[in-house]
Amino acid sequence: MFSGNKTIEDVLQKDDQIVITGAGGFIGGSLARYFHEKGFTRIRAVDKKPLPEWYQRTPGVESLCLDLSEADACRRAVEGAAEVYNLAADMGGMGFIETHRVECLRSILINTHMLEAAYRAGVQRYFFSSSACAYNTLLQQDPNVTALKEADAYPAMAERGYGWEKLMSEMFCQEYTAERGLETHIARFHNIYGPNGTWFGGREKAPAAICRKVIEAKDSGQLEIEIWGTGEQTRSFCYIDDCLLGIDMIMHCDALVATPINLGSSELVSINTLVGLAEEIGGVKLARRHKLDAPLGVAGRNSDNTFIQAVLGWQPRTPLRSGLEKTYRWIETQYALKKAGKQVVHD
Ligand code: NAD
Repeated sequence: MFSGNKTIEDVLQKDDQIVITGAGGFIGGSLARYFHEKGFTRIRAVDKKPLPEWYQRTPGVESLCLDLSEADACRRAVEGAAEVYNLAADMGGMGFIETHRVECLRSILINTHMLEAAYRAGVQRYFFSSSACAYNTLLQQDPNVTALKEADAYPAMAERGYGWEKLMSEMFCQEYTAERGLETHIARFHNIYGPNGTWFGGREKAPAAICRKVIEAKDSGQLEIEIWGTGEQTRSFCYIDDCLLGIDMIMHCDALVATPINLGSSELVSINTLVGLAEEIGGVKLARRHKLDAPLGVAGRNSDNTFIQAVLGWQPRTPLRSGLEKTYRWIETQYALKKAGKQVVHD
């Protein structure tokens, strides 16, 4: 990290208003806790889910239930805000985004109304959570993929539905900066994982799904695991703590206004390797059953971190093995609670 890097405490007073949308979900909820732990006293967390369904609620953080696809709700959400972090989107893992393209595309309403509301409210900075799914899919047809650098989003051939929505929303941010002077910051997340993420129900992503399947197999004594596809498809996975620090630094970097940047790990692994790591953590070896007609997404995807390293002198570095261990242990606890009939995250 460069010594000149700024984080939130360098630019805001502790009682400035911070707004985080999608805060009933994984990353937004974790971000609310992160700013609260830094001592910020006026954090407004917003999500459309009823409050009892939020994954995390940090005491002392204002929590509002609003549907941000409505313009009025966005105006209410940003009242008095110095900074807005827009993490609200209808999304999930491959199993969700390949079968819910309409829902994914409709998230354009959230970002459209949030930007306009933030601009009218005169906020100082606006953060948009974009995705690696915005990249040209034609560059991701080989598991031995060349890592994606920021310029690879164009010429555009994003993932249908979810990826195109992210690309259009990025453009909205860029044009609000260019034409209206709203300071926007855009990070393209690559597979964020960790405790407090979705771990069952159909929207979960590969790391959580695989940890859960290993735990289920151990618990049931049926020592086999279903893997989507051949398992040779490759991805990188970024631990939540790296993601939170990355959001903070990207939002407060003057060189990153309206400039999309990768926020991901460059540790590329195959899904089979990921399964092997989860088995190792669980202390079990499972027979592998490959479901070849499952939704797979692109064949390979990795984050090229040349740009973030150059501009921030930093990149996500948590090794997958250690991040996965923490995630596995957390899911193990959740699994036991659920089995005992107690309420768990994502009930
Ligand atoms: P999440 O599903 O856990 O959280 C998103 C939250 O947005 C949910 O709680 C949902 O209820 C809320 N939401 C949806 N529609 C809403 C609406 N109309 N009004 C208000 N709230 C609404 O997802 P996450 O993993 O925390 O992702 C946060 C952001 O990061 C999303 O924009 C997502 O697209 C992006 N992203 C995440 C990943 C990842 O690996 N988790 C990767 C790339 C991009």
